[in-house]
Amino acid sequence: MSLLKSLENLAEESFKEFKTTEFICNYLKSCEIKNFINCNPGVFGTIDVNKDKTVAIRADIDALPLDKNKKSFKHMCGHHAHTAILLEFLKYANENREKLKCNIRFIFQPAEEIGKGAEFLIEKGAIDEVDEIYALHVEPLLNLGEIGLKKGYLLAGAKFFDLEISGKSTHAALPHNGIDIFVVFSDLVSKIQIIVSRFKDPVKSAVFSIGKVEAGYAHNIIPDKIKISGTFRFFEDEIRKIIEKKLLDTLESFKLFYGIDYKLNYLKGTIPLINDSDLIDNLTKIFKKSEFKIIENIYPMMGSEDFAFYLQKVPGVFIRFGIKEGESHPPLHNKNFYVPEKAVDLGVKLWEKIFL
Ligand SMILES: [Zn+2]
Ligand SMILES: [Zn+2]
Repeated sequence: MSLLKSLENLAEESFKEFKTTEFICNYLKSCEIKNFINCNPGVFGTIDVNKDKTVAIRADIDALPLDKNKKSFKHMCGHHAHTAILLEFLKYANENREKLKCNIRFIFQPAEEIGKGAEFLIEKGAIDEVDEIYALHVEPLLNLGEIGLKKGYLLAGAKFFDLEISGKSTHAALPHNGIDIFVVFSDLVSKIQIIVSRFKDPVKSAVFSIGKVEAGYAHNIIPDKIKISGTFRFFEDEIRKIIEKKLLDTLESFKLFYGIDYKLNYLKGTIPLINDSDLIDNLTKIFKKSEFKIIENIYPMMGSEDFAFYLQKVPGVFIRFGIKEGESHPPLHNKNFYVPEKAVDLGVKLWEKIFL
């Protein structure tokens, strides 16, 4: 069975990638690569060839839930491909140690999908003594053989929040006797869109979306509580501050206008992902001489990635790696998403161009 298929079959939840971690450790040992630390979940180590420079490659290893109950998981973000590519490349690199331009730090990171794995491994020392860091991410919008590069901002910072609004329960036909939290909610939805369209420079991007709402239990009762969960994305910290302030101003004004109370709780988010410009120039030079087609200055996205936390400490590049075979490909995080086997060999070649 191929590495890609074996890893696909293991698909595990964020921070519970124990079988995947064991698989990685066994594979490394079978390739005579012994210098690594098992952080269970997650692994990092070094192929040390006595060079002054150490360059890291990060592959994330977690999968996504297929249903609400989190009973089964699938690699809908292609992290199994990132892992298969890195494992196969390490085997090749270790067999060709004399050709390596630098020492290789390999990082198999858990829990990317919940934005917590990078910091978990950074704390364990995964990027100690690292001079540069790279990661690739499969991209179903680009063709096989195409790679997308962009200097500076590539992916957004993300904030996640849970909000509970308390009103006053009443008969649906007598709303004036209570506080209708559904009216408050609909007002909030429009205020949120006003925040991103009217309080910041329109040239600077932001998106604000609500993803989950819970309230009510009968046709004719206005309930007293509504729970709302959502996220907003931004590139500049100044934009994050405006959104946070205006959300708070909105809720405070609702207190006065509607008489509600609220609890707002921010969860751990991620920071914007910023690629190093000099390293992009270097990669462009390397790949222009190769079979890869570079899509220069690829459009940024409001998605987020915890690879940004490594880039906060070490210069590096996040590479968008094309996997589309025909006219179209199922998008990331879709149940039909898959990675063609061919992509693994191409991914290994991509790392070869940079490291050998
Ligand atoms: Zn994902
Ligand atoms: Zn991903």
